[in-house]
Amino acid sequence: MTAATTIARRGWCPGVRRPMATGDGLLVRLHPLAGRLSADQARLVAEAARRHGNGHLDITARGNLQIRGVRDETYPGLMELLDREGLVEPEGDGPNRLVMVSPLAGLDPLDRFDALALAQTIEDRARSIEGLPAKLFVAIDSGGSMPLDSMGADLHLLARDEYELVSFGVASPGGLHWIGATSLDRVPDAVIAILSGYAGMRKAGRTEAWRLRDLKPDLVRELAATAVLEAAPALRPQPPAPRAGILDIAGGKAPLLALSFGRCTSAQLEQAAAWSERFGAGEIRLSFTRGILLPGLAEAHLTTVLGEARDSGFIIEPRDPRLSFLACPGRPDCASALTPAPADALRLARAWSERLSQGTTLHVSGCRKGCAHPSRADLTLVGRDDGRYDVIPNGSTQDAARLHLSIEELMTRLLPLKTPDDPDRAFAENVR
Ligand code: SF4
Repeated sequence: MTAATTIARRGWCPGVRRPMATGDGLLVRLHPLAGRLSADQARLVAEAARRHGNGHLDITARGNLQIRGVRDETYPGLMELLDREGLVEPEGDGPNRLVMVSPLAGLDPLDRFDALALAQTIEDRARSIEGLPAKLFVAIDSGGSMPLDSMGADLHLLARDEYELVSFGVASPGGLHWIGATSLDRVPDAVIAILSGYAGMRKAGRTEAWRLRDLKPDLVRELAATAVLEAAPALRPQPPAPRAGILDIAGGKAPLLALSFGRCTSAQLEQAAAWSERFGAGEIRLSFTRGILLPGLAEAHLTTVLGEARDSGFIIEPRDPRLSFLACPGRPDCASALTPAPADALRLARAWSERLSQGTTLHVSGCRKGCAHPSRADLTLVGRDDGRYDVIPNGSTQDAARLHLSIEELMTRLLPLKTPDDPDRAFAENVR
């Protein structure tokens, strides 16, 4: 296969078999199960990114790993190498990776069930369902300390407080919409019933929705009935997952290292592999928070690793202001981008550093897809084809814009802001 096989069609997602043409060459996305890579695999991918790409990688908002800047002539060699390592997705048009779990899955003392085992079961059984859109995914949250609420999953499974009962939710503009619950042992059957039912609705022409979350409410209710879900009270939203710092795991600690915008160099990935090998469990876990978790590190080595990580450009402090703003690759790296989102985000972050260090969140997106952050932020900016930004205070890229401003106008308005309700007041006009 060569890069000539790249395809662009509605609902399509890049993978290893189907790379995507972007501003800096081909983008090849890997989808390791649960974001897990052995130290050897991480080192091999880092070396491959340097040799076959431009040495830059991204950790995505679903915890996948992208190799950037791959050239047509180097792509076949990269494909062969990743295939040997078992890092190529299965053939077919469905989701490259259907399930996602917390990077702490299997290590979190608060886990109420084995999310990794459930993820593997659902992934295996769902492979036979034809007609699932490529972007569809199921988030499996076993109730640990890295909640997945913000993922915007088509189907969200969350352990309830009650023993072995799992709630089912569907993403909606106002957050998760809970559609029922079932016992843990019935979860795989219920998930397969919902996914099969949804694929059947699409095949029969009953819906054209590309995401389960876009289905009409009566069809969602029909799916919940098909899955024999019991009525259950809605669950309260969980706090956002930590994005950097030292996390408690069973029997020890694990550093979660963050990367600005998820951008990672091959050297940083090699370093993470080396730390996990020298001091840890010999594996790394890619996190949906756009960072890397190093499980099994002996506490005696934490200080050394954190010091080296800081020097290598990782973010290690949970209150680092760089964690409060998000941006997608934007122009010129993404062909769909209408604005240079990361460069503009950096300008705005400098102007607004005081608020960001207090935890106010800023999301700058090169287009409405919102790849970097599918949920709300205190201030969301979406690139427009006239080079300005749609301004959405307290919302996501899918919400209505309040007004449209150039980057210079935004800078002027953000500079004087000091208090938490400022974004609302500063952008109070109607769209113009
Ligand atoms: S949000 Fe739009 S511009 Fe940004 S990476 Fe995704 S598709 Fe590209």
